[in-house]
Amino acid sequence: MHTQSLYQEVILDHNRKPRNYGVLDHASHHAVGHNPLCGDRLEIALNLDGEHIDRITFHGESCAICKASASMMTAAVKGKTRADAEILIQEFRDMALGKLDPSGQHHLGRLTVFAGVRDLPTRVKCAILPWHTLHAALNSVTSISTEAADDPMHAPVGGAS
Ligand code: ZN
Repeated sequence: MHTQSLYQEVILDHNRKPRNYGVLDHASHHAVGHNPLCGDRLEIALNLDGEHIDRITFHGESCAICKASASMMTAAVKGKTRADAEILIQEFRDMALGKLDPSGQHHLGRLTVFAGVRDLPTRVKCAILPWHTLHAALNSVTSISTEAADDPMHAPVGGAS
């Protein structure tokens, strides 16, 4: 059960010492995400420098899985381009939903510790919420809910308008 113990270790570590936790002044993009099933609510704020995510922070009230996912997400996308962040968002979402094989080809790196949530339906939304919220922030949608019919993850990105 090595994977399980690594998972627990990572969750604990990121809850003890969340990365990029706090409020970002003068953020160029931000969004609030809410997962009513668990009570998770968090805000993602970031600054784009051209196409690069220069700074990113999160804060809010959430369960340990959501907080660890948010912490690892901010560390993973900081310094990346908006396009690369969108790839990670899609891959993380597919992995959490069991649609991406974590041992296959992807860009998730250590984020694969969350692969096990696909077997825990009640925790999938906790793990995905920070990524939904980042997606919303990058697309200038300021508020999302995992229970909303207009969840931006289900809408085409940059589609025809
Ligand atoms: Zn949660």
